[in-house]
Amino acid sequence: MIVDFHTHTTASDGILSPTELVSRANSHGVNFLAVTDHDTVDGLSAAKVQASQLGMRFLNGIEFSAQWHGIAVHIVGLGVDADSEALASAILTQKLARSKRAELIAERLARVKIDDALDGATALAGGATLTRPHFARFLVEQGYCQTESEAFRRYLGAGKIGDVKNEWPDFSQVVEWIRLANGVAVIAHPEKYKMTRTKLCRFVEEFKSAGGEAIEVISGLQSPNITEKIAQISRRYQLLASCGSDFHMPNQKWQELGSFGKLPSFCEPVWQVWS
Ligand code: MN
Ligand code: MN
Ligand code: MN
Repeated sequence: MIVDFHTHTTASDGILSPTELVSRANSHGVNFLAVTDHDTVDGLSAAKVQASQLGMRFLNGIEFSAQWHGIAVHIVGLGVDADSEALASAILTQKLARSKRAELIAERLARVKIDDALDGATALAGGATLTRPHFARFLVEQGYCQTESEAFRRYLGAGKIGDVKNEWPDFSQVVEWIRLANGVAVIAHPEKYKMTRTKLCRFVEEFKSAGGEAIEVISGLQSPNITEKIAQISRRYQLLASCGSDFHMPNQKWQELGSFGKLPSFCEPVWQVWS
């Protein structure tokens, strides 16, 4: 079975519509899929319909932005009830935080004579969750940069003019939202936070006491020693193991749907929860 429990669609900063994403996952052999857009559940119903038409198993998901002691972290909620009131109010809270941040980013960019970034990024988002990649696309489209990664390097990334600190909720709040929506909270792409092993273990411990249940042992293409390291941590703290591509768009080899290694055999796969 090929499981991919971390994917994005046009409901947030992905390039494919929910329907297209599910079809692509199917053609890459994925048979159990979760869609996990940033702070929204808008893509889920269309994805679910397409998955059932293609005979694939489908799981609701969402990827929340949060913080752990001031460090920005992402928490995926798997198996959430998309109609839950707790989830709806959580999504609203995140939406307000995002609009506030987007306004600040645009104000900062205006200081370096990049005008209308808010309108531009909002138009590119087309009603989807407004994220920094939308600002990056705006910068490319307007000729300020050649590529989106250049946009991050020069304007949006850490320490740059558009690097606005967000008041994301504490990770424990996010775990609570996910639990209230009957979902399983998962630490997304732990390697991305560049924490030392000791720090990551502290995060994992606090996440677990807050009610978190799983960690992404595999996030896209990653080296076997990273997989082994996170797998060991998942075993030590008795967290369930998840895996996902973090797919956003085609032609990025490191995050193609379903294309990553297998979980080490000693891991307890998170999908046991739904089987
Ligand atoms: Mn994203
Ligand atoms: Mn993420
Ligand atoms: Mn993601």
